[in-house]
Amino acid sequence: MSIQSGPALCISIDLELMWGRWDRIDGSSIRLAEQAERPIVRRLLELAERYDIPMTWAVVGRVFDDAPGFENLPGPRAAWFAPELVEAIQNSPVAHDIGSHSHGHAYFDELSDAEASLDLERDLELRKRWGIPMRSWVFPCNKIGHLEKLAKAGVAVYRTHDAGWLESVRNHVPRLYPVGNLLDKILPITPPLVGAHARTFGEYRAVALPSSTLLLGRDGLRRLVLSSVSKFRWLRALENATTQHKVFHPWFHPSNFYTDAETQFSILETLFRAAARKRDAGVLRIVTMADFSEAAS
Ligand SMILES: [Zn+2]
Repeated sequence: MSIQSGPALCISIDLELMWGRWDRIDGSSIRLAEQAERPIVRRLLELAERYDIPMTWAVVGRVFDDAPGFENLPGPRAAWFAPELVEAIQNSPVAHDIGSHSHGHAYFDELSDAEASLDLERDLELRKRWGIPMRSWVFPCNKIGHLEKLAKAGVAVYRTHDAGWLESVRNHVPRLYPVGNLLDKILPITPPLVGAHARTFGEYRAVALPSSTLLLGRDGLRRLVLSSVSKFRWLRALENATTQHKVFHPWFHPSNFYTDAETQFSILETLFRAAARKRDAGVLRIVTMADFSEAAS
């Protein structure tokens, strides 16, 4: 299915376990990655199945890479590796998209050409073994780089940044971004809608798809974000998507569910229920990032 335009919901999830924090390792993160990640991912898959909602899972390659090496990582292996979760996504009756969040959660804006090629080659080789095509790509920490190399390797769609005012704050006054981010989620500001744009890199093409908003975790000050406000913001974005013929593209990590998972799942289920109703009424498409890929060709 190719989506050029029209009302759609697209959800992307960055699945990374401890690879997402390889440069900020601490005991409690290791424990949570080992113990909390699996039940959350399984529950996300169950919820997606209940409402038939396909999503893009942007997975760090090493999470399911069983090639030898990395024997001396801190903490239990289960905090770093979970091939069984990728298997569960593959085996789901819902047509999920297994995108890449790079092979080693490297920051692509800092990599040399050779380092970027190596990361890509490893991920392509792993995916060949698993029979998973590389269509969608999410940059670690949304740090964008080496786009021509990615497009040449077959990446057809990549996630850029959250659209809207908050991203302007990040670009122009980065020190205000944390407080801006919190305010953006506390106040009933409707998340921005997005559209896909085909871009050319040398002789290759790929589609740039911004995201709308992050489902913020509920730890620390962030617990001030009322779940009723989150639900209101997301439902209004969904409503706007249908009337403005645009895409609502929320994203999150399973780790954003570590604190107060019940509230987070209730926000997500509210969105799923409303989206399924709109889909069944024929006014909304529920798509993955890969569904935007043909817009590139
Ligand atoms: Zn990440």
